[in-house]
Amino acid sequence: MAVPDSTQETIPAARPIIGEAEIEAAVRVLRSGRVVQGPEVAAFEEEFSGLVAGRHCVAVNSGTSALQLTLLALGIGPSDEVVVPSFSFAASANAVRLVGAEPVFADIEPGSFCVDPAAVEAAIGPRTAAIMPVHLYGHPAAMERIQAIADRHGLAVVEDACQAHGAELAGRPVGAFGTAGCFSFYPTKNMHALEGGMVTTADPALARTLRLLRNQGMEQRYANEIVGANMRMTDVAAAIGREQLKRLPEWTERRRANAAVLDSKITSVETPPVAAGARHVYHQYTVRIAGDRDAAQRHLADRGVQSAVYYPTPIHRLLPYLGADGKPGWELPETDRAAAEVLSLPVHPTLTGDDLGRIADAVNGLADAR
Ligand SMILES: *Cc1c(COP(=O)(O)O)cnc(C)c1O
Repeated sequence: MAVPDSTQETIPAARPIIGEAEIEAAVRVLRSGRVVQGPEVAAFEEEFSGLVAGRHCVAVNSGTSALQLTLLALGIGPSDEVVVPSFSFAASANAVRLVGAEPVFADIEPGSFCVDPAAVEAAIGPRTAAIMPVHLYGHPAAMERIQAIADRHGLAVVEDACQAHGAELAGRPVGAFGTAGCFSFYPTKNMHALEGGMVTTADPALARTLRLLRNQGMEQRYANEIVGANMRMTDVAAAIGREQLKRLPEWTERRRANAAVLDSKITSVETPPVAAGARHVYHQYTVRIAGDRDAAQRHLADRGVQSAVYYPTPIHRLLPYLGADGKPGWELPETDRAAAEVLSLPVHPTLTGDDLGRIADAVNGLADAR
């Protein structure tokens, strides 16, 4: 067994990139004095549409805002249900609750960790208004099957693409399937804007409603047409997002190349499966640890490899989503198994070849350690 080398730096699980280009962009906007919802935001929306097959893009201040505003714009509220995976970040279900609707949780496919279309169909009832698939870890959900189910039942589809900038299924980018797609620009995502979000849609009327809702219901100043919120993006955020968007293709290739190296070197656990026709963008590189996961994380940490668990508690087991009896109201065996087993390894674009070797060696050492 390799002896841990304490002189080596720990490889972090994520490393947000804030370089000179981002700093210069921010300073340029600050000096310009046009700082909120100005030319940078408009340019960012225009440029981002290139990532989603030319759909309309509406920038907002976070991924959560993107989801919440989309549900509002679709008229989803009290008495409506939205089918959503429980194996996701809480924001997916929080957005549903924030508009007064109820999430109905569907189980996942064990391979992709994304929502299982059969479970989605089984969860549909008379109050269902929308389906919210999540492209978890950067792997696209089974959008063709989910869209077919939505069409059959007359439901909206809101893609939670917050982890999947640039992911594709059958050559079509995520955010270009559903009624709307929602992206996040939080610092640890595949690209960031410090904080920020984007809604993408093919429907110009929906795009206009989203623009009104993010800015107090105004298109013309003080001519408020509807009740809206303030979920505007700043021009500083947009300028940083534009710099990041330029480099996203290169970073995505690095993530995919890093994942391919890990796939080829890791022998002690199953490497992340990729569905046929899917282009995985590896927001996370996630394996399953069937045994003692805490011990596995300690083993990796001792060898300078930081790992992370997304997500240790599925949403249906979080306090706000328990039933009136204090117990979870859903049986989701694959969700529970994933929450108990998943472990994400570093895959971010700033890893070196040496880092990848150390990560794979540390993971392969788990087999001996057990
Ligand atoms: C990050 C994330 C969000 C929320 O994005 P924020 O920009 O942090 O509000 C929503 N859903 C998923 C799956 C995410 O990973």
